[in-house]
Amino acid sequence: MPSALPRKTPEAKEKGFLAGYTLAELAELLSPLPRYRAGQIFSRISGGAASFGEMTELPKSLRQELGEKYSVYSSEISARLTDRDGTAKLQITLYDGGKIEAVLLGDGKDRNTACLSTQAGCPMGCVFCKTGALSFKRNLLSAEIVEQFLFLRKTAGKAGPGAGGISNIVIMGMGEPLLNLEELRRAIAVITAKEGSGLSPRRITVSTSGIAAGIRDLAEKGPPVRLALSLTTADSELRERLMPVTRTNPLKELKAALKEYQKTENRRITLEMVLLGGINTRQKDIEELGRFAEGLDVIVNLIPWNPVEGMFFEGRALREPESGELAAFTELLEKQGIAYTRRRRKGRGVGGACGQLGAAD
Ligand code: SF4
Repeated sequence: MPSALPRKTPEAKEKGFLAGYTLAELAELLSPLPRYRAGQIFSRISGGAASFGEMTELPKSLRQELGEKYSVYSSEISARLTDRDGTAKLQITLYDGGKIEAVLLGDGKDRNTACLSTQAGCPMGCVFCKTGALSFKRNLLSAEIVEQFLFLRKTAGKAGPGAGGISNIVIMGMGEPLLNLEELRRAIAVITAKEGSGLSPRRITVSTSGIAAGIRDLAEKGPPVRLALSLTTADSELRERLMPVTRTNPLKELKAALKEYQKTENRRITLEMVLLGGINTRQKDIEELGRFAEGLDVIVNLIPWNPVEGMFFEGRALREPESGELAAFTELLEKQGIAYTRRRRKGRGVGGACGQLGAAD
């Protein structure tokens, strides 16, 4: 029998959700319980146990005590929407009533990608993104990020120890991940732990709108994940109008940060280009992109804008690029010798495609 576990006070409420604890943190939190007990609890939570009652290998009195002081999860699924293409979108209610969304994208074979959110709302205000139009509420806790992964793994249909049905994670849901790097680091440490789900960090992509200091921090302290920059256009003047982050993180500084990241990680960076019909599909955008990509090892990912009703840019309604416009753009890319891929359209039917996330609160 343990002596009294530390009691959960109201102020420490957010510290009582065990899904977000790394094994080392859990061992410390539950001290003086022996470490192997923390290991049992950690691997059971990683394996999908949603309550202490399910951990029948623990003495009953301990299960009871844990239940009185802590919870396994902090959030719950409030709605589950499935598109005809198989994409599943989860609406999740947080412990304080806030709402976020997470998406499972399958390729119909063996690749299931979990798209996770890191903030409730987003402060970045990118004009083409539904999340950016919401007010920013707060950063998510490590537990709230890990729980999205656990919920989606269950949705993928192969829950249990290990990564289960999830082959990849993209941190591209609601929010700017590099503004919540500490909690994201903890969440990644939990998800990649070999004693738990054991997903390789190489299968995780963190996508930023362009926070140079965050990119440097990631390069310096890890984890060794893949990096994507939501570039949209390399024309500075246009980018400042589309993505206000450019005013404080100019492209020159961003490129320098990407170079540093590449020196440390030596891994190809993805430049995401959300293509907005009639706005950033000009020859100038390609030329500037060519200049920006010089000296970097990058691949461009083209994402034709996914429609969201009522979104405007300087008085003009946003629209997706026409097929001719898209073809002309890719032809120019090829002429410039810029490697690119095109994102398949997934999840539009449930508002779960890129730029469409926006849980009401
Ligand atoms: S694109 Fe990303 S960073 Fe920009 S507003 Fe949307 S969620 Fe925020």
